Order: sequence, then C-alpha cells, then structure tokens
Amino acid sequence: MRKISIFGATGSIGQSTIDLIRRAPDAYDVVALTGGHNIARLSADAIALQADLAVTAHDDRLEDLRAALAGSGIEAAAGQAALIEAATRPADWIMSAIVGVAGLAPGLKALEQGATLALANKESLVCAGQLLLQTAARHRARLLPVDSEHSAVFQGLVGEDIAAVERIIITASGGAFRDWPLEDLKEASLAQASSHPNWDMGQRITIDSASMFNKALEVIETREYFGVEPEQIEVLVHPESLVHALVGFNDGALMAHLGAADMRHAIGYALHWPERRDLPVARLDLAAIGQLNFRAPDLARYPALAQARDVMQRRGLMGAAFNAAKERALDHFIADRIKFTDMAEITARVLEQIETQSGLIDSAMTLDNVTQIDHIARKLADVAAAQNTG
Ligand code: NDP
Repeated sequence: MRKISIFGATGSIGQSTIDLIRRAPDAYDVVALTGGHNIARLSADAIALQADLAVTAHDDRLEDLRAALAGSGIEAAAGQAALIEAATRPADWIMSAIVGVAGLAPGLKALEQGATLALANKESLVCAGQLLLQTAARHRARLLPVDSEHSAVFQGLVGEDIAAVERIIITASGGAFRDWPLEDLKEASLAQASSHPNWDMGQRITIDSASMFNKALEVIETREYFGVEPEQIEVLVHPESLVHALVGFNDGALMAHLGAADMRHAIGYALHWPERRDLPVARLDLAAIGQLNFRAPDLARYPALAQARDVMQRRGLMGAAFNAAKERALDHFIADRIKFTDMAEITARVLEQIETQSGLIDSAMTLDNVTQIDHIARKLADVAAAQNTG
C-alpha cells in the first residue's frame, strides 16, 4: 500500500484528490490529512479514510477537531508546527494543496523526507522555486506538477529534450470578465468575480482567474518548473478551457494537451505517474464541440500579466513579494475594502516600492528570507490598499 498525505484536504483540490483515493481504498494508507476552518469535512474524511492524523492550521480549532474525532483513534493536532510535523511523517506521495504561501514550509519538509510532492500549491514555486527544486534534488525527492497547464506541459515533454523546446503556451479561459467592457471592471462585485465560466475551484483562485493573477503566477511557475526563458512563455486566451497547454518544438511542431476541465485528470496523472491509469473524467467529443477558439490576451484588461514579466526579469525574491502583495490585495477585495481593479494597482505599487523599502530582494533564497519579504510586501500592500480606499 502506498502511504499518502494530503495537505489542504478540505479544499477543492484536496477533495478531488480524496475522490480518487476513495475509488481505490485498498491501494492507499492515509497518513495525514490537513485543513483549516472546515473541521466537519476534515474529521469526516479522516474517519472515512482511516487516517493516522488530522491537523487543522488553526490552534483555536483543536478542541473542535478533537471532539469530532473522539472515539476514532485518529490523532488530532493544530497549528503551524503541527503542519510541519505532519509533513515529516513518512509518506510516499504527498499532495500540496494548501492555498497561498502557507503551503511552502510543509512542502519543503515533505521534500526533505524524500517524498514525491504533487504540487498544486503554485505559490510555493512562485515564491521560492529555486529553493524547492534544490531541496528536491538534494533529497532525491520528486516534484510533480498538478496545475492543469503544467501537468499538460509535463505530459507534452515525456520523451522530449527540453533543449528542443522553442516555446510553451499556457491557455487561460479569460475568467469571469473576459467579455465585459473594460470600463465596467472597476465595479465588478465579489460574487461576480467568484464565478468561473468553466472550472469549479476554490474562491481565491477563481477571483485570481478573473484578474489573471492566477495566470501571472502560472507564467512564473512555468519558468521555475521547466527552466525556460521568460520570452519562451506565452499566454493564450482559450474560452473553452479544453486545450490546457501547448509545447512548441524547434521543428515547428506544436503538441497540444486536451482534456475536460476536471482537475482529477492532473491530480490522477501525478498520483499514478509514471503510469497512466483509467480516470473518472469525461471524454471529449470533438465533433460535438465543433469549434475551439483562441485569442491574444488583452494586457489592459489583465495588467497582472505584464507584472509577471517584470517579476521574472527582476528575479531574486521578487516572486515572493509579488505573491504576498497579490494575496493581501485579494484579502482586501474579498473583505470589500477595495475595488476589483485596485488589486493590480496595489501589486504594481508594491513591486515599485519593495526594492527601496528592503535590501532583501537579492538575498539568498531561504525560507527565512522568503518569509521576511512576504511580511514586508504584505505591509506595503496594506498601506497601498488604505490609500486606495482613503
Ligand atoms: P481552496 O481554498 O479550495 O482550499 C485550500 C485548502 O487550504 C483548504 O484545505 C483550506 O482549509 C486550507 N488552508 C487555507 N488557508 C490555510 C493556511 N493558512 N494554512 C493551512 N491550510 C490552509 O483552494 P484550492 O483547492 O482551489 O487551491 C489549492 C491550491 O491549488 C492553490 O495553491 C491553488 O492555486 C492550486 N490550484 C487549484 C486549482 C483548482 O482547481 N482549485 C487548480 C490548480 C491549482 P479550510 O478550507 O478547511 O479552511
């Protein structure tokens, strides 16, 4: 039996992972499940999957978790240290599906124990790509992409030489506002931004799809994971979300990956890699679909895309600053303190200010330095948000 743990088990990716695990319960020995506020779901899944350990990220929810697990024999724990400890428990395969930079420290610990880390938590790669890749190499651990675009590229590269790759094209649905008049964007509400045309995902990534901050992170993730130059990465708006990515080779061939908009494909590919196994995802009927559409992204609608280019040019710890500013701006939008279009203004201001406010951007990529930059960028984002509301 394969020993597995799922970080962020109560979220959208975590639940899709659990759906796959439940279809073959005899194949997996579940070590740890982690969640945040959703104690009911965390405890129910821990009991159903007979996990050894369940961890909530929040110290003040420990008693609730203990109560929900009473009599099950499952260990309960809470807080950041408990999350890290859970990542050190021996496992063969670990899903990293915490949202935000909070996924970085457990992910690093998982790699240090030599486990295969299925990485949905793209923020880790954006903040500390080199640190993750070096940690994986040092401990002979494997890092497998779970983001649908990166899984698609990874699959397109099987048997290929990365040196023969001319370009990588990742697609974007364009999100909730792709066809809105530009002048209406600043009035976009939280409910409108939280509804995705094709994918059923967590709220934060859904809003990030509408602003394309999600795609901006994915462009940086592509650079970090596959080691290509920024100029080799393109974004293509594809409203149907059926082509997930394309890899262009030096002979002019363009290999496309198509599949239903269902994260269980990418999760299942990482779970069974290097094999392919039957997955419960819809099969595409291209004759019925009839038509696929593509267009270039409108950079005025999606300023985050140009910001990602600046971050890649600047390098150092700028990815961590960008992600932190984006996370904080998103918090403010969700709390109804700023407008939708303010988010990109805030990240732009933080990117401008971070170099003068901190001498840390070029310092070594350690967890401590990433955490420090993260804190500084969050404070700058809060100040910028207050100016926008003031
Ligand atoms: P969700 O918001 O649905 O789930 C996030 C998970 O992380 C939940 O288990 C949540 O717990 C937990 N969590 C939240 N905050 C913290 C914290 N500070 N510390 C520890 N745990 C925390 O997110 P998604 O599943 O949508 O996304 C997860 C990751 O996967 C993100 O990095 C996202 O970018 C990436 N991703 C998601 C895709 C999707 O289709 N959803 C596609 C590709 C990538 P609780 O809910 O109990 O509070």
